[in-house]
Amino acid sequence: MKKQTLFSVAICLITSNIFSQTVILNNTGTPEIQLPDIPGYLTMKCDFHVHTVFSDGVVWPTVRVDEALAEGLDAIAITEHVEWHRVEVIDDNRISYEIARDRAEGSDLVIIPGGEISASPDHFNALFLEDPNDRKLKDTIPARRIAAANAHGGFVFWNHPGWTAKYKNGNTPVTEEFKNLLRDESVQGIEVCNGNGYWEGALKLALEYDLALLGNSDIHGVSYNRFEPGKHRTVTLVFAKEKSAEGIRDALLDKRTAIYQGDHLIGPVEFLKPLFFESLELEATYREGTTIAYVSITNNSDINFYCGNRSPFLFYNSTHFFTIKAHSTTILGVKVNKNLPEFELDLVIHNLVVAPGESLELSLPVIMD
Ligand SMILES: [Zn+2]
Ligand SMILES: [Zn+2]
Repeated sequence: MKKQTLFSVAICLITSNIFSQTVILNNTGTPEIQLPDIPGYLTMKCDFHVHTVFSDGVVWPTVRVDEALAEGLDAIAITEHVEWHRVEVIDDNRISYEIARDRAEGSDLVIIPGGEISASPDHFNALFLEDPNDRKLKDTIPARRIAAANAHGGFVFWNHPGWTAKYKNGNTPVTEEFKNLLRDESVQGIEVCNGNGYWEGALKLALEYDLALLGNSDIHGVSYNRFEPGKHRTVTLVFAKEKSAEGIRDALLDKRTAIYQGDHLIGPVEFLKPLFFESLELEATYREGTTIAYVSITNNSDINFYCGNRSPFLFYNSTHFFTIKAHSTTILGVKVNKNLPEFELDLVIHNLVVAPGESLELSLPVIMD
């Protein structure tokens, strides 16, 4: 947990209206994604799958940069289809990256060169391509295209498994051919989320084969998120030691990622737990003459945390299910039964997913003021 500070404004409010569960203190209304860094790492918001007019997108690369900056992203990868382009623009895989890179100059936004490769039976993205125009990336034998991306030292991940345009039941069959690519680490990551799509089978595969978890927009049209505060595109959270392409590359290879899609975080316990704690500020005091603890929880992040109480303590003002709302302060009345100087709330955070069908469980320490 970040800190247990005296939050004087909230304390002043703790009078007659203590048990109205949520006091809205702040709703920033900003289009920028707000999530905390975690101990030892920067939390970088990244979209590793975007298209422009240079393949099948509808916007110029400069627009992708402007959108990313407005939405508070830290990095985007330009990933045009390497095998084909719109007929009306030049057949060059590097131009869109260069235009985006030039647009981002002077800003903190990291632009990564990449490409989307069609290989039987699905699509793969390769990041950090040294030469996106390498003819080998278009080899007539699709499997060799992935080998060419690996030869570039690129980070390769499997895109949108469960693509319904191709597989009507929403699941790409995991063939031996696929498994071999995962086993020999030709493919090092997988999109568990692509836009609004979520594939639990991909999460299972990621855990089985130790793949980096990715969630990207695969945006082709205009991003409207900047005009709709509270909404955001699906992004990969990268826990990087430094804000640079190299920092991102190290983190991807080390599987230091999680996914932020809608009101969900999907990722390993080791990253979701500190993200939860770093989002919060707590303070607590006993209501005079009682053993009921007022626990004031301020959530400074964009995520609503949907919590279930698994502690032996019951609540005075809520059922076992409660929400720690984004950019708000939630006050819980906890029936401690004694004036303990500290205690723990055992919680399950339903929308923080660590494995198929499994949510993050943790103990939230409460120290009384
Ligand atoms: Zn694709
Ligand atoms: Zn795509």
